[in-house]
Amino acid sequence: MKGWTGNILRVNLTAKSYKKEPFSEEFAKTWIGGRGFAVKILYDELKPGIDPLGPENKLIVALGPISGVPAPNTGKAVVAAKSPLTGFYGDGNLGTRVTEQLRKAGYDALIVEGKAERPTMLYIEDDKVEFLSAEEAWGKGTYATNDWIYSKYGKGVGVLNIGQGGENMVRYAVIRSMEGRSGGRPGMGAVMGSKLLKAIVVKGTQAIPQANPEAMKALGFGDLKKVGEMDKKTGWSKQSTTGILAWCNEVAGLPVRNFRKTSHPEAWKIDGERVNAARVATYGCPTCTMKCGITIHDKEGHESELDYENVGLLGSNLNIFELNQVGSLNYLCDEYGLDTMSAGCVLSFYADAIEHGAATGNFRFGDAERAKELLRMAAHREGKVGNLLADGSLRMAREFGHNSEAYAMQVKGLEVAAYNCKFIPGQALAFGVAAIGAHHREAWIITFELKNTTRDSYGPDKAAKVIELQRIRGGMLETLVSCRFPWIELGWSLDNYPKYFNTVTGLNWTMDDMWKVADRIYALIKLHYIREFPEATRKDDYPPAVWFEAANADAEGPIAGRHLEIMKYDQLLQHYYDQRGYDKRGIPTKSLLGKLGLSKEAAAAEKYAKLN
Ligand code: SF4
Repeated sequence: MKGWTGNILRVNLTAKSYKKEPFSEEFAKTWIGGRGFAVKILYDELKPGIDPLGPENKLIVALGPISGVPAPNTGKAVVAAKSPLTGFYGDGNLGTRVTEQLRKAGYDALIVEGKAERPTMLYIEDDKVEFLSAEEAWGKGTYATNDWIYSKYGKGVGVLNIGQGGENMVRYAVIRSMEGRSGGRPGMGAVMGSKLLKAIVVKGTQAIPQANPEAMKALGFGDLKKVGEMDKKTGWSKQSTTGILAWCNEVAGLPVRNFRKTSHPEAWKIDGERVNAARVATYGCPTCTMKCGITIHDKEGHESELDYENVGLLGSNLNIFELNQVGSLNYLCDEYGLDTMSAGCVLSFYADAIEHGAATGNFRFGDAERAKELLRMAAHREGKVGNLLADGSLRMAREFGHNSEAYAMQVKGLEVAAYNCKFIPGQALAFGVAAIGAHHREAWIITFELKNTTRDSYGPDKAAKVIELQRIRGGMLETLVSCRFPWIELGWSLDNYPKYFNTVTGLNWTMDDMWKVADRIYALIKLHYIREFPEATRKDDYPPAVWFEAANADAEGPIAGRHLEIMKYDQLLQHYYDQRGYDKRGIPTKSLLGKLGLSKEAAAAEKYAKLN
């Protein structure tokens, strides 16, 4: 078996034990790697109903066959576990040197089980695993923790760590790595914290097994150069993802005041041009030639790395249009190890709930200084308010009552990304049916939808596009674990990815083969969802209710008076189910599961919910 190391490292923090476990060629070909490995392992090994913050949960770090191999933007890793935010399978990816180092250490994935007795740092070097004290770093933020690790091992090691948010089990705490890299929105950092695992450090010294290493080297380095040239030619990384803010504002797709409004006259103050003008430095993931991390100085003088999601959700969505203040909120999230998107939505929901009389408190839209205090309180679970904010917007809404769940901007518990779908049905569907909750990573249809289709159509073409994007972004790129930006932003051909895969594995796969694995992954995540929530209905695939409300429609601008229509959305959802082969509840049918090679999983799932 070439292309995979063929081994998983299983570490148990309770027993302080570890073992190298080989996996079969069949497993590799059925799930490829990354998200595929993670969902299969978690589905098989986690008992239904376990506490995501208990020792029974497992943290997975998973890589793909091209991880750590020179090729465009392959320096990423998938981190996954049962999510403390959503209650079912959750994951994310982040740029990290762990990718290359773990593969060089001889593993395609790491499984962390149990719970340490004291704050611990896991040190992995090839066949050696050490359980080291992290007491000295416990209570520190992610930047200081990174420095503490670098001072011991140098900057070349792979690092995953958590801040105070993870330590205090904030349900949307992320895992951090290097300068500015974060991943695992649905609380993967909280899972690390629940295990008293402050950091994972990895160093590897072996060659990554490949079928054609010389061919891959020539191909990969050549393509890295080409991608870098394409970036220079297009100028994309001048503004990187923040370049889209001005467009979102123009087309009424920007989140403003907890998504109540879709544009704002002051949005230009925080747009890509302003971010680029304030640039202090540029950062990026390993093996990237189009680095997208732009840092600016925040109000207090820290370097803060911004992207569109951060600026949209910690800026316009909170009615904050001072770029350095947005930088401050973003810096605090990064330092505490909180997901910037969920944090932005949680704060905006809190302000909205106070404004609508569902909650009490002294926080208003536009109050950046109070927002900073609230982030600190959430990260430390300080007092009633800190605890409330730390649990995410769905749990807050259930606590507040007064129909506030309608404007808690989340799907399945995961807060929505920075696209205001008040009148963008395809993107609303993409959020509704994203595998792990309202994440844009899997189906970012908004630009296609607004540039190539009729905005108010709810036709099957939009459902088909969402599925196509899920297969590419949530499937192929998450199993190979490669960044989507060369393809999305520079038009780097998708055909390159099966080519990389075939070069390292010696196989002869087509895009269709990749997509079959993607469909299998989506089906298994759905089975995990119904195993945890047997009463699930199609309503679970609806976006936030406020987008359907006529009273919430914009009074002026390009979508004045327009909003999503519930019956039409339901029809669009049905198109998605029909094309996917799911039943009316949004659950894969037995016949589809059989075709995807999941008959055993289907039979097991029948214990929890009847399948059609
Ligand atoms: Fe990382 Fe950005 Fe490069 Fe993608 S484009 S690999 S996110 S630095």
